[in-house]
Amino acid sequence: MPTDESDLKIIFQKQTYWVIMNEPRKIILEENEIPRSWYNIQADMPNKPLPALHPGTKQPIGPEDLSVLFPMELIKQEVSQEPWIEIPEEVREVYKIWRPTPLFRALNLEKALDTPAKIYYKYEGVSPAGSHKPNTAVPQAYYNMKEGVKKIATETGAGQWGSALAFACEKFGIELEVYMVKVSYEQKPFRKLLMNTWGAEVFSSPSDRTESGRNILAENPNSPGSLGIAISEAVERAAISGGTKKYSLGSVLNHVLMHQTVIGLEAIKQMEKAGAFPDIVIAPLGGGSNFAGLSFPFLQQKIKNGKKIRCIAVEPASCPKLTKGEFRYDFGDTAGLTPLLPMYTLGHSFVPESIHAGGLRYHGASVLVSQLLKDGLVEASAIHQLECFKAGVLFTNTEGILPAPEATHGIAQVIREANKAKEEGKEKTILFNLCGHGYLDMSAYQDYYDGKLVDHELTHEELHSGLKVLETPTID
Ligand SMILES: *Cc1c(COP(=O)(O)O)cnc(C)c1O
Repeated sequence: MPTDESDLKIIFQKQTYWVIMNEPRKIILEENEIPRSWYNIQADMPNKPLPALHPGTKQPIGPEDLSVLFPMELIKQEVSQEPWIEIPEEVREVYKIWRPTPLFRALNLEKALDTPAKIYYKYEGVSPAGSHKPNTAVPQAYYNMKEGVKKIATETGAGQWGSALAFACEKFGIELEVYMVKVSYEQKPFRKLLMNTWGAEVFSSPSDRTESGRNILAENPNSPGSLGIAISEAVERAAISGGTKKYSLGSVLNHVLMHQTVIGLEAIKQMEKAGAFPDIVIAPLGGGSNFAGLSFPFLQQKIKNGKKIRCIAVEPASCPKLTKGEFRYDFGDTAGLTPLLPMYTLGHSFVPESIHAGGLRYHGASVLVSQLLKDGLVEASAIHQLECFKAGVLFTNTEGILPAPEATHGIAQVIREANKAKEEGKEKTILFNLCGHGYLDMSAYQDYYDGKLVDHELTHEELHSGLKVLETPTID
């Protein structure tokens, strides 16, 4: 059992009954309330994001450079300054399978914490793949289909993105090849089987199918892989296909973050129905898409209407790009094949400990979230994994849903804020994104119960090894 067993026992004792309260627990919307447009925060940002640079020429990248990898519509969305972009009817039709998603009031968690704070959460785990990722996988597959693409190559870390895109490609008749980070490929066979069931081919990365993969294997045959390596492999496969195959990314890029805003747009309506507005919005951050998805529509109200609201992105202490990285141009992948992006990064050669929460093991943060952090419009927090799993177990015991290991980072921050509200005697309203369930991640919980997880404090050396080799200057 967990190392701090005594703490948990106290919690369990308090929670042997289901608290009955005269408050609604669940706020739901009708199908016709699925948003009709995505919100594009670029239109309202006080400082526009700096341009992506070509990896070879180091000049701002143009649409033509990206057209090997992405369909034109997504390239347009990437740089669009329009505040609203219409969601195609076909995409809304697929969204209807699981959207609108429910918003819950975490009454039992509030009770267990004995806090005056009101805690709400948006639950994205009701999607077919079990996370928020299908919100962008579906439009991405759709636009590829519209432009005649027959095949897509992508990477996946813990398997969440691969399964979301496998589901979406199946809907629009596109073949999919997935490069899955080796540690997850071995530790999480069920995600691979889910992708196979939706018709995708899955390869363990680094693989011998690409030059990037073969180079890594030559250096270290036992490489556990990383998201950065898997991206190199998928990008390479798409690039050498001569346009017959495209590439797709599940986070980081502007259009991906924009597709996720259906989460926050629905949440605003649901909070209105509950007669509440959040003081604090919290979500875990890997590349930044689920954080953006929930927070950007609220940030619009902060930027345009001066609403007071704190938006906090929570990252693992083992991969702390927002809190300990540097704001500079860096590659999105390990081999340096992608455009250079202006972002908070630990350096593209940074490989986090294998044991840590799969989906958050990425060296950089999205350009949009990075710029907003630099401008002080959002905040960041880094939390060690034992605190996160403890929060996840408490959440499961109070609210009933077992969160994805990534999602527990958000919950740990919620608990910190709820405890602070109690200390200060303030009735704060907190909203967080329960971005996925953890029912296919039970091996991570097993490691936690077996005491195999430790909090790894990054040394100065580890933190700077990836940054030292970056040739690009920091950006003021
Ligand atoms: C992929 C994933 C994340 C991290 O990715 P973001 O781009 O930051 O959203 C977090 N939680 C879950 C459940 C995921 O699948």
